This record gives sequence, structure tokens and C-alpha cells, in this order.
Amino acid sequence: MNRLRSLDIKFLKGIGPARAELLKKQLGIASYYDLLYHFPSHYVDRSQIYHIRDLNGEMPAVQLKGRFVSFSVHGEGAKSRLVGLFSDGTGAIELVWFRRIKQIKDAYHIGSEYVLFGRPAEFNGRWSIVHPEVDTTTSVGAMQGLRGVYPLTETLRNRGVSSRTLFMWVQTALVATQHIKDPIPEEIAIRLNLMPLREALIVIHNPQNNEQLQRARFRLKFEELFYLQLNIQQYSRRRSAQIIGFRFARIGHFFNSFYSQCLPFELTGAQKRVIKEIRADMGSGCQMNRLLQGDVGSGKTLVALLCMLIALDNGTQACLMAPTEILASQHFETISKLVAPIGINVKLLTGSTRKKERDLIHSQLEDGSLHILIGTHAVIEDNVQFHNLGFVVIDEQHRFGVAQRARLWKKNITPPHVLVMTATPIPRTLAMTVYGDLDVSVIDELPPGRKPVETLLRYDEQRLQVYQAVGRQLKQGRQVYIVYPLIQENEKLDLRCLEEGYELIRETFPMYRVAYVHGKMKPSEKDYQMMLFATHQADILVATTVIEVGVNVPNATTMIIENAERFGLSQLHQLRGRVGRGDGQSYCILMTKYKIAKETRQRLEIMTSTTDGFVVAEADLKMRGPGDLEGTMQSGIAFDLHIANLASDGQIVQLARDMADDLLDKDPELAQPQYAMLRNHLSQLFDKKVDWSRIS
Ligand code: ADP
Ligand code: MG
Repeated sequence: MNRLRSLDIKFLKGIGPARAELLKKQLGIASYYDLLYHFPSHYVDRSQIYHIRDLNGEMPAVQLKGRFVSFSVHGEGAKSRLVGLFSDGTGAIELVWFRRIKQIKDAYHIGSEYVLFGRPAEFNGRWSIVHPEVDTTTSVGAMQGLRGVYPLTETLRNRGVSSRTLFMWVQTALVATQHIKDPIPEEIAIRLNLMPLREALIVIHNPQNNEQLQRARFRLKFEELFYLQLNIQQYSRRRSAQIIGFRFARIGHFFNSFYSQCLPFELTGAQKRVIKEIRADMGSGCQMNRLLQGDVGSGKTLVALLCMLIALDNGTQACLMAPTEILASQHFETISKLVAPIGINVKLLTGSTRKKERDLIHSQLEDGSLHILIGTHAVIEDNVQFHNLGFVVIDEQHRFGVAQRARLWKKNITPPHVLVMTATPIPRTLAMTVYGDLDVSVIDELPPGRKPVETLLRYDEQRLQVYQAVGRQLKQGRQVYIVYPLIQENEKLDLRCLEEGYELIRETFPMYRVAYVHGKMKPSEKDYQMMLFATHQADILVATTVIEVGVNVPNATTMIIENAERFGLSQLHQLRGRVGRGDGQSYCILMTKYKIAKETRQRLEIMTSTTDGFVVAEADLKMRGPGDLEGTMQSGIAFDLHIANLASDGQIVQLARDMADDLLDKDPELAQPQYAMLRNHLSQLFDKKVDWSRIS
């Protein structure tokens, strides 16, 4: 293993320093090990040869056998292309190359037989394949059975590196695996009947049949998840073993009087259960690190507040940190209003807090007379010192990284309990992995009386009707969000759309006030515009996704999302959570053009068919894979899965977790000699993360 890792890819035959540099940059492949663990993303059946006459539009990639009839070059300079006419006796197809024209023309000969491979497309009744793979019929012998298709980048393709090139390199690297040793303990390999490591690597790159491939995949998925689980479990075992925390034994004046005098409504069953879980943690004597998940509007703030009161009852201070200024001030207003009758000192600290107020906050924090501090990142600055900080709440976790959490822990000699709240629903398998260092509580119930948001898919052609419906809501005194995408690659174009949209809305609804906000504005301008909407001095808010997180305007009942196809499902769900917060029936209208891909329509139909954030998240994860999920990389147990898929491999995740648990029960530090290789391998795999696991 270590040897493969230390073998630089530039020494592999046919690669050399320039390509090695490119591989490193484009795919993160630096060693033989990296190359061998760069697995095909899918496979195509190379045992079947198709006839040109049988081609149809549904086929992914096909294999054809025949001869070139002619070559011709069209166009000039950068625009030139090479077209080869290829026939198999049942029909003809055009093969098109835009790059490396000369080399290709020289390499292939009219009249000889070739096997080619690629994705056929039909245009004006003619079939063509762009950049097919071409093999002579003699060399193809070695490539029967299933053939892997390797993930590549456009840059690599432009430099002449194809899936086939990668395949050849992998074959060379496989030769070096002869004496490879398996870090997985023998007892586990036997128990699960795992395919041996070397065999699995050979098979994953050269499967003869599907059954064999599945066994290899299982073994490689398992090892990946097993190492990951071992790392997480070791970390969380050490944490709970070592970190002594405040023991909040009592419930006292603050909690009790709030509960009896100020609680504006009955808690939901889920809120009660979660508070119990948190109380148990805070009373255990160990430091709590808990993730509180709850869909938008499920009432996380109230839970956080009640727990803060327990902290106050035990003689400590509490702090709530939110990702934006608007959110922090909304929390501040809600909370200070709620606790006003019981005499608790709450203050707001953000980047725009004036010096005088700031000085007051600092001194009250230090002498202990400030009970609850609410704020943005400003609260973690070094000059913010607490008298005795016992409990920290972090809202909307995905905006904060572990490093920032750690800075809060360090604000006290005894580390405060930490509650992280997120409205991004995370499927269980993912939570178990990404947030393996946190215990998880879930609020899975909305307060009673909420009417689910009605979500509709509408097309540009129906804009008039949509605006009429908006007009009816406005007439009833309701407010409306109109959201535009603002995606980095397309910033200029998007901003123009947003501006045009803003003008259109002002023209359409001249008697209503329209606020306007996007992420490129100065923060003060942004806050001002948001404030107009939040205080109902504006009826319509035209915005980009800056409103995604947390804003609470219960009177807003309608949201229109423009170019909805460009948003991810989880993001749409977050956005939709801005409406349906009051007693009125709310609507979320997803606008797209009429012609959208089937897949896009299916995706959007998930939104129209459910309001359950977990269902949406599962679907999102299945469609996009977990790599894209916001927060994954920031979670502190950053990882890069090559083959396992947290959405579809839930059972293997569980199995890996069980095996890791069993092993650590027997040998928590993997100190026994038979685990030396495993220990070593783990430290190689997770060397970047060692820092994090030591932080607490
Ligand atoms: P989120 O979980 O999205 O942060 P909030 O804490 O902002 O949700 O709560 C959403 C709304 O629901 C708030 O207006 C809050 O006052 C209200 N709420 C919270 N808990 C309850 C409850 N048990 N019954 C009724 N309304 C509640
Ligand atoms: Mg909230």
C-alpha cells in the first residue's frame, strides 16, 4: 500500500512529468495508488457489436465493427474538423474529430477493419459519433467483457487523454500490485467473505462479468466506508472519553418561570423529546456536541432558547451565533421579546454594532451580567471574553466550519456544550458519516395548524396567469418573494435577468412597493432592503438566494422562483421554507421554460409532490451524489469517496459501522500487532484530519 502510494505517477510508462502534472491538477492523481483508486464511473458491454442499421436515439454508447470509406477535412484553422465515413455493411455513420486531426488521419487506414466505440447521435437523418474510440480488430481481443468508462475532465480530453488511455495506464500500474497487502483485518475479511484486495483492484478495472464486478465493488465500497467509520468512531470515542463538560444538574428559576409565564404555545411532541435528549447530555458531565436537525419552521429556535435557559439556571452564560446579520437580529428580536418578562439580559453583537454598545457588551460579558449574547461571526473574535460560557448554539451549521466551532469551545476552561442547528435535512446515512462527530437530534414534526405550501410548476407562457394570482395575494395585503438564480459562472447574465425582472415587476405592479436585493450589494444596502420587506414597507421582494437562510416574514404567502431548473432540490426546499410560516395558505411557483429535459421535470416534480424536507434531501442525494452537498467538506471529517455512495449504500455504511464498532470494542487504539498495517493505513488516509481530531 505504502509503496504504491510513494510511487510517483510520472514514472509510469507513457505518462512523464508534464502529463503527471496534468493528472494531479485535473483528477488529483499523483501516485500509483491514486491511479488504481480512480475507478470507472460505469461500464459498457464490449461483448456486443451493434449494426448501424439498428441504431436508435436511446442508445448510450455502442460498439460497431467495420471499415473507413473516406476521410475529409472541413472548415479551417481552429474550426476545422475531420469527418471519417465508416460503414459496416448495414449502413454508414460519420465519425467526427475536432482535435488532433493530423494524427488521427495518419493512424487509421481506409479499407482495414476497426472496432469503434462511442455514443451515436442522429442529425438530419444521419448518424454520427464525435470522438469515438477506435481499435484495430486485433488489439480489441483483450477487451472483451465489460469495459470501464473513466471519469475525465474536458482539459484532459483536449490533451488527448481518453478513457482508453487511462485504462492502459491502469493496466501498467496493476502489475505493481503483486505483493500488495490488505490492511483489513483477516477476521473481518473472512467473516464478510471479501474478495482479496488485489483481485478486487484487477476486477474493478477489468471485469469479465457482472457478478464478479459486483463482488469487487462490494469489497472496495466496504473498505472505503470501513476506514471512514473507524476514523469517525475513534474520534468520537476519544472525544466522549476525554472531554469533561459542565454538569447542568438543575432546572431553576429562569426555565420554570419562562415555561409557566412566557411560552407562547404548547411545545410539539418532537420539541419536548429533543429538549429531553439535550438535557440528558448536558447533565451527563461530558461535553455535548449535538446536531439539531429540523425542517424549516419546525421550531428550533424555541428549543435552543429553552436549553439556553437551563444553562443560565446553572450559573453560566449562553451564546447564539448565526451566519448573517439579518438572521442574528431576527433571533435577537424574537428572543429578547420572549424573555422580556423574566428579566434576562440579552444583547446583539454584529459587525455593525457601535463601539459604545460593543464596549458595554464586553464589560457585561466579563462581569457575568450579560446572560445571552446573540450575534454573527463577531462573537468568536478573540477580544470577546465571557465570564463563564456554558452553552453555545450555532444556527445553520453549514455556514460554519469545525475551526470556527472550535474557537467557541476554547472560550472557556471547561468547554461549553455545543448545539448546532440546521434546517438542511441530512439523510441518516449521510448524517452518520458527515456528522459522525456529533450526536443527532431530529425535530420531525411541524407545529400544529400549518398549512403545507402548495407548490406548482408553471411555464413562461403562463406568466400572465401567475402574475394575476400574485396580484390577488397582494390585494389581500400579503407579501411576495420573487427569486432569481445568481450563479457564479454566469454572474453577469444573471444580474441582467435579475434587473430586468425587477423592472418588469415594477411595471406590472405599479401600485405596490418593491424591494430588491442580491448578494453583490453592499451589506448595509442589503440589510436596508431586507428590512423594508420584513417590516412590510415593501410588498414584493425581488431577490437572489441571499434570502435562503432563516428570514422570517410570516405575512409572505407567495414565492415565485424563476429559472427553477437551475437550482438544486435542497436549495429549492430551503427557499420554499420562507413561505408557509403564518396562518395563510401559501404558494411556491416554480417557473421554467416549456421545453425542459425529462430529468429536470422529474426533479421539479419531486418539489410539487412533497413538502417533506427529508424526502427532498434523499432524492437530491440520489440524483447528485453527496459530493455536492453543502457542508460536506466543512464538517471536519472531510472525505472523498471514490466508490461508495452514501445514498444508495446505506446497508454497507451500517455494516462498516458495526464492524468498526466491534473492532474498537476489542482494541480501541488498534494497538495489537495484527492491526499495525491498518493503523498505519488509517493515518495515511486521514493525515490531513489529525489536527481536527485533536482540537477538542
Ligand atoms: P426554524 O426551525 O425554521 O428555525 P423557528 O424556530 O423560526 O423555526 O419557528 C418557526 C415559527 O414557528 C416561529 O414563528 C415560532 O414562533 C413558531 N413555533 C415554534 N414552536 C411552535 C409550537 N410548538 N407551536 C406553534 N408555533 C411554534
Ligand atoms: Mg431558524
